[in-house]
Amino acid sequence: MKVRSSVVCASKSTAHAVSERVIPIISQPLGQLPIPQFPNIGSDTSGHALDRLNRPLRDLRISVTDRCNFRCSYCMPKEIFNNEYTYLPQSALLSFEEITRAAQSFIALGVEKIRLTGGEPLLRKNLEVLIAQLAALRTASGHALDITLTTNGSLLARKAQSLKDAGLQRVTVSLDGLDDAVFKSMNDVDFPVSDVLEGIAAAQAAGLGPIKVNMVVKRGTNEQEILPMARYFKGTGIALRFIEYMDVGATNGWRMHEVMPSAEVLQLLQTELALTPLTATQKGETAERWGHLNAQGEHDPSLGEIGFISSVTKAFCSDCNRARLTTEGQLYLCLFASQGYDLKPLVRDNPHPESLTQAIAAIWSQRTDRYSELRRQEMNDPSVPSDSAALKRRKVEMSYIGG
Ligand code: SF4
Repeated sequence: MKVRSSVVCASKSTAHAVSERVIPIISQPLGQLPIPQFPNIGSDTSGHALDRLNRPLRDLRISVTDRCNFRCSYCMPKEIFNNEYTYLPQSALLSFEEITRAAQSFIALGVEKIRLTGGEPLLRKNLEVLIAQLAALRTASGHALDITLTTNGSLLARKAQSLKDAGLQRVTVSLDGLDDAVFKSMNDVDFPVSDVLEGIAAAQAAGLGPIKVNMVVKRGTNEQEILPMARYFKGTGIALRFIEYMDVGATNGWRMHEVMPSAEVLQLLQTELALTPLTATQKGETAERWGHLNAQGEHDPSLGEIGFISSVTKAFCSDCNRARLTTEGQLYLCLFASQGYDLKPLVRDNPHPESLTQAIAAIWSQRTDRYSELRRQEMNDPSVPSDSAALKRRKVEMSYIGG
């Protein structure tokens, strides 16, 4: 069953009006770390570079723009990301050729999957050109990359087919509810749900799949949308994932009481839906997956999947295989990092691409990041004050390094 398109046709003109209105934001690099000089580089039997906690480098997230046309309170709150902020200058952004060059080095160290992020990645002009360049790359074992993209869906209806034609395989769409009033208050730019659903339907029609829909659950804001979202996407072939509200960046004023733990979301879903846990398809998967049972009590894959991303209550750092490259060429090793490594000088006008690969290998080999685990430990330890240094540590904004 395809996603219902009857509810997705309204307000097209609004979509265009909003999508053209790009609000500038400032990048927030919090300093750079020196690239290690004498790495002790290890790799696993499949050739993935290993970090100090033996986690392989597999997944690269590339932010292609620092701009977004939404102002979600948990990511780019309007009070902070207002017209006072300035764009990164065009000259600071990595070009598509530079991004592709960087990707080649990451692939040489074991990366198999690339996710394009932002900001809102579809705001980057001619993104299809970059996708085509990345789609032409091959892993060390000769396989095509898994190329995906995370989007707010606002431009998906008009871009889905060209993205698919360029070589994009699938998309993840952020959607925090089906109720227009709730959704508009969360995106804070009056963007209607119907246009995002239209984008999802277009992505399905173009064959971009499997599609995932991510819903950040913020207690007191959108928990009443959990059941309607689960009902809506059941049987559509789209995996719905519930994400615990996280303390990303330093601007969203995160409070623990606003987190609705995944266990509680699951309990709520089970008041209506018969669900069964599924085994992980891959080590390092961010979501715990559940399937639907049919009337006979058997798992029915045609009814789709529900996932839980529980970064706050059930940290998954021990399997974290993700590196993040910002739109201006900074490498971050964790979503909650304070500082990155400046790769731009090694990407731009560098006649020795092997030096870039060596630098990435050296950086990854030193990686010990596990913020969510540490946050969990601190929160469970009553002797740690709630304003402890690690929890209050200034983090780079998610809109800068990509989610
Ligand atoms: S907190 Fe950092 S290390 Fe842990 S899973 Fe998230 S990105 Fe990975």
